[in-house]
Amino acid sequence: MRDLACVRAKTLLAKKAVKRGDIILTSKPFCTLLDSSLIGCYCEYCFGSARKDRILRRCRDCGRAWYCSDLCRELSQPQHQRECAVFRSLPHFTPSDYARFLARLIHKLRDGGEEIVEKIDEKRSRRFRDLESHYREVRESEEHRSYVESLLPDLRVLLSPDSLPQPRHLLTIYGKVLVNSFCLLDDRLTPIGTSIYLGASIIDHSCVANAFVAFLGNKLVVRSLVDWPDLDWSRVRISYLDAMDSRQHRQSYLYQHYFFSCDCRLCRDDARERLTSTVTCGSSVCDAAVYLDETADGGVDPCQACGCTSFRDDLRQEYRRLAALTRTHLMNLNEENPELEVWREVVASQEEVFHPLNVLRAKAVDALLTATVNCRGWHSALALAKLNHSAIRHYYGASHPTYGLFLLKLAKIELCNMAFSSALQHLQEAEKILEAGLGSNHPLVYNDLMWLLVQASEETRVQIQRSLMFGERGVQHPDQELRHDQTHHSTNRARS
Ligand SMILES: [Zn+2]
Ligand SMILES: [Zn+2]
Ligand SMILES: [Zn+2]
Ligand SMILES: [Zn+2]
Repeated sequence: MRDLACVRAKTLLAKKAVKRGDIILTSKPFCTLLDSSLIGCYCEYCFGSARKDRILRRCRDCGRAWYCSDLCRELSQPQHQRECAVFRSLPHFTPSDYARFLARLIHKLRDGGEEIVEKIDEKRSRRFRDLESHYREVRESEEHRSYVESLLPDLRVLLSPDSLPQPRHLLTIYGKVLVNSFCLLDDRLTPIGTSIYLGASIIDHSCVANAFVAFLGNKLVVRSLVDWPDLDWSRVRISYLDAMDSRQHRQSYLYQHYFFSCDCRLCRDDARERLTSTVTCGSSVCDAAVYLDETADGGVDPCQACGCTSFRDDLRQEYRRLAALTRTHLMNLNEENPELEVWREVVASQEEVFHPLNVLRAKAVDALLTATVNCRGWHSALALAKLNHSAIRHYYGASHPTYGLFLLKLAKIELCNMAFSSALQHLQEAEKILEAGLGSNHPLVYNDLMWLLVQASEETRVQIQRSLMFGERGVQHPDQELRHDQTHHSTNRARS
């Protein structure tokens, strides 16, 4: 695979073929902010995490920013110096992150940021003024207007009276942040902050993305997920949302956050949409997904696979109750640290009703899986990961980096359960997918994934040797296990 990390965006691949995994754009940060809950855990400039070989040191003046080196501290000064002075004089002042981000951005624009241009190729470039603000929609939205008003007390402290923009200009800047900001991710792809990248903001959304955004420190890198005989920027798309959701949910999210509705292939796929809201067939010999329209009345339509009509009378009411319960918990979900007991209960209550490909089921199982892994319940985690495998593959697609991340997680769980050869197979599959989406120079690939691959290969080799020497039963050759799993996948695909 070609790695073009060192090539500037402006010279990238104009009228050249692009292969899956190639970098099509690199973008430098225009404005960034580390979440205040993570202060001290990451360098404020390069976003390297605190660890044994990367000791962070506090800003000597305010004590509220941490840096991994003198260089990072120096480079961060234009962004930090004014809020540093404010924090020094008001040690107990804790402004909201949104207000801090806006204040940094307003200072940046006053310090010559309006003139900064980022080139995408020979024909395209972006300045801050080019970013879409959706001013009219923001102004007409009571919710957005009152939110901006709620930020004013913090902004008045962070900005001098002459640098606080007029209401109309402030609303424009807020609108630009709202629709153009990126969520910063660390090496493990955990959200850690907010950022504006001028060049990357040119890329529009599709629920079926053909490009993927990753971060290398504070640099944003966009890689192609498809082959292009001749790269056409007008057709490059990234996804602004989680593809494992119903069309209605995706559309309302896009409108609420970005003021547009999506008309991509996925959004026009009615069969896929029906699958998001399904129950398991009522027949004891059939496990097909049967569509259930929550908003309709009357009985459930017969199963299209076996013709079964024997569904319980209160199925629709029960479905609505469970769907509402799941949605309530999803709204309060802490993605990094879901509550084990809550999600165990949700998943158990769905058991008899929801089909594994129902999105509310898949999301609930995913939350429980994370909670179980966090508690190191490796045996239960393996059962949950296997349960959700086909849903994740179905909703993200077999070559999407999110599916690659799932395979990585599955393989880690398998290693903990000493299922070495299937861990090896899943890691090899994950490697191909993640190299294309994140690049072989991403720490998650060259560090985490490679280390697990070495471990899985070594353990598999030892296991096979042992089975040859002692004739241990139950140890399969990796190829045998591979064939078994492939059969499993094709069965699932046929069913979906
Ligand atoms: Zn640093
Ligand atoms: Zn400081
Ligand atoms: Zn769409
Ligand atoms: Zn059936």
